[in-house]
Amino acid sequence: MANSELDPTVRVRFCPSPTGNPHVGLVRTALFNWAFARHNGGKLVFRIEDTDAARDSEDSYNQLLDAMRWLGFDWDEGPEIGGPHAPYRQSQRMETYADVAARLKAAGHAYECYCSTEELDARREAARAAGRPSGYDGHCRELTADQVEVYRQEGRQPIVRFRMPDQALTFDDLVRGPITFDPKDVPDFGIVRANGAPLYTLVNPVDDALMEITHVLRGEDLLSSTPRQIALYAALAEIGVGNGTTPRFGHLPYVMGEGNKKLSKRDPQASLNLYRERGFLPEGLLNYLALLGWSLSADDDHFSMDQLVAAFDIADVNANPARFDLKKCEAINARHVRELAPEEFVRRLVPYLQAPGLLPAEPSAEQLALLAAVAPLTQERMVVLSEIVPMAGFLFVDPAEFAVDPEDAAKVLTADARPVLEASIKALEELGDFTPEPIQAALREALVEGLGIKPKFAFTPLRVAVTGRRISPPLFESMELLGRAETLRRLGAALELLPAS
Ligand code: GLU
Ligand code: ZN
Repeated sequence: MANSELDPTVRVRFCPSPTGNPHVGLVRTALFNWAFARHNGGKLVFRIEDTDAARDSEDSYNQLLDAMRWLGFDWDEGPEIGGPHAPYRQSQRMETYADVAARLKAAGHAYECYCSTEELDARREAARAAGRPSGYDGHCRELTADQVEVYRQEGRQPIVRFRMPDQALTFDDLVRGPITFDPKDVPDFGIVRANGAPLYTLVNPVDDALMEITHVLRGEDLLSSTPRQIALYAALAEIGVGNGTTPRFGHLPYVMGEGNKKLSKRDPQASLNLYRERGFLPEGLLNYLALLGWSLSADDDHFSMDQLVAAFDIADVNANPARFDLKKCEAINARHVRELAPEEFVRRLVPYLQAPGLLPAEPSAEQLALLAAVAPLTQERMVVLSEIVPMAGFLFVDPAEFAVDPEDAAKVLTADARPVLEASIKALEELGDFTPEPIQAALREALVEGLGIKPKFAFTPLRVAVTGRRISPPLFESMELLGRAETLRRLGAALELLPAS
């Protein structure tokens, strides 16, 4: 672990674009920024980069906010809470960008480019064919007033282009160390479209400057925009936008999915909603996602968010691509599930029984007591919370809708099961105290001793009849929770299902 001093002047940002559904790559970026801010006692700014009206949606925006809250992140400035640099939605900051673009032009850091797409394409092809760099060639850098006039007469609408300095650009990446860009690889780039719409290339660094961001931690896919942003920062400092200091940059490693391909945000495996629906705990999922580039120590993959915050240092992040391993993610989540205090475990299970309608929006005290009673029988074996449905749904389902699993029934509820069910019904009807030990003793006596059936075969048909499945919480406890009347009713119903012998 690097030996870093805390720095309360740290200001980091999480600045997603509200397109599509939140994905795990985004969550890891949010996590590292949040952990870095909290570790240092600094600030996390949450900014919404919604300048692309064609792609951004209000639904995505709401999902982002909801996801951030579900994950347990808090932010110091941003949507809902505001802050000294409000507004934090870029769609509400358009005047600022227009103003900065005008000032960059006036100061000579940007210029109008009248080249048409066809002209740019043709020149790029020619440059490629001649083995020259194929980026923008600086054609409009020094247009005379007469040339501009001619283009205007032709009805051309210019874009605004930023003038890159003609020298190599080096910066010290917090994850990768020094990186140098050759000017021929970073040509002048567009910052405002012909219709006046500002581009990511402008609005992202302008807001980082105005919001006084000190550290930019983001995915490696954005590395190629860093030299441009550093050059733009220098220009902004010159024209007095922001406080004049350039942030430090740290690029987080790629996340590889199936078949060692980069995990794309469209990959179903990447969708945060999927993990929520399956019942990952936020702390389990975040523990795993932190491992995509970071670790607490070489021999311990399991930690709490408090431990992560206490130890997190961006200098410890590994530059090598990280592989997303669902099995490991599940194993880590299972451990967090096992660690939940009993009442907390119950509280977290409720929505997963509500989703399929097994619990109402306002569960009754009896329903919650039943859940509290069955929960300890499931906690040790649970990987994700939605497993409460196959494991314990039989207790909550409306008796009229209870049905045994057809495959399990076909295997187990055969003609041979008739004497087993009949003897069990008789034994349980006569039983005094309907609790696990007497239930077990009575059934053993009736089936193992009485009918001479091995316990393994004796109890499986009962399990399927009562819980609906061959895999369930312990049988005798399940019967107790279900109650004698419903247990007997289900055993009787199973009897009806048996094929005639
Ligand atoms: N809105 C950008 C994105 O979601 C932010 C990139 C950055 O962190 O600079 O890709
Ligand atoms: Zn041009």
